[in-house]
Amino acid sequence: APGLYIVATPIGNLGDLSPRASEILLSADIVAVEDSRVTAGLFRHLGAKGRMTPYHDHNADAVRPGLVARMATEAVALVSDAGTPLISDPGFKLVRDARAAGHAVTTIPGPCAAVAALTLAGLPTDRFLFIGFLPPKMQAKAEAIAEVATIRATLILYESGPRLAATLNALADGLGDREAAVAREITKKFEECVTGTLSQLAARYAEAPPKGEIVVVVAPPGEAPRPSEDDADAALAEALTRLP
Ligand code: SAM
Repeated sequence: APGLYIVATPIGNLGDLSPRASEILLSADIVAVEDSRVTAGLFRHLGAKGRMTPYHDHNADAVRPGLVARMATEAVALVSDAGTPLISDPGFKLVRDARAAGHAVTTIPGPCAAVAALTLAGLPTDRFLFIGFLPPKMQAKAEAIAEVATIRATLILYESGPRLAATLNALADGLGDREAAVAREITKKFEECVTGTLSQLAARYAEAPPKGEIVVVVAPPGEAPRPSEDDADAALAEALTRLP
C-alpha cells in the first residue's frame, strides 16, 4: 500500500532483521537510505537488489518534497545505517511532512541501541531520558550535562570510543559519581557491558580507549533522604508545643 514505512534494521546481528522488515524492504517501491553501501549489504543478505535512493543530512531538505509526493502512489521505506530511523538519525521531518500531506505512516519497529543498552545495564528503567550524542567540545558538553543533572531518570547517551573517557569524566563532574554502564558492540561478536561508577569507568577507559560502538547508561540521582514518618510526627509534636 502507498505511504511511508519506517523500518528498523539490525545494530550488528543480521538475525535481528524481522520478517516484516524484510518483507517491506523487498516490496517497497523505493527505499530511502543513509548510505547505499551499508543498505546494499542488507539487501545482499536478503538475496535481492534494493531500489534505493539516498536520504541523509546533506540532501534531505532537497529530496524530501519529491519523496513525500511519491508516497501518494508508492510505498516509500526509510532505513538508517543501523537500528531505528529517527533515533539520532534522519527521518523526523520526513514523517512530519508525510503526515501533513495526509499519507499513511507505518512503523516496523526493531533494534535500537539505546533501548538495548538500557536492558543490559541493570539500572532503573521506569523513567529514562535519551540524550543522543553530547557535544564534543568540553564547555558545551558540561553545559549539556548541567541541563539534565537534576532530572530523576536514568540517562542514555551515545558516544564514540576515543571520546568515551573524557565524556565519563565530564558526567562524573556534572552529575556526581553515579553508577553507570558502558554497553559496547551490542548484538555483535565482542558485545560487552561494563558497570561501575562514572569515575571508575573513566579510569578504565582512559587507559585503553575502547573500539566499536558504545552506549553509556547513567543511574538517576540518588534519593535525597526523605523525612521518615517518625520524623514528621516528632516535628508536628514539636511545632504544637510552640503554638500559643
Ligand atoms: N538509530 C540508531 C539506533 O536506533 O540505535 C542509532 C544511530 S547513531 C548515528 C549511532 C550510534 O548508536 C553509535 O555511535 C553508537 O553510539 C550507537 N550504536 C549503534 N549500534 C550499536 C551497537 N551495536 N552497540 C552499541 N552502540 C551502538
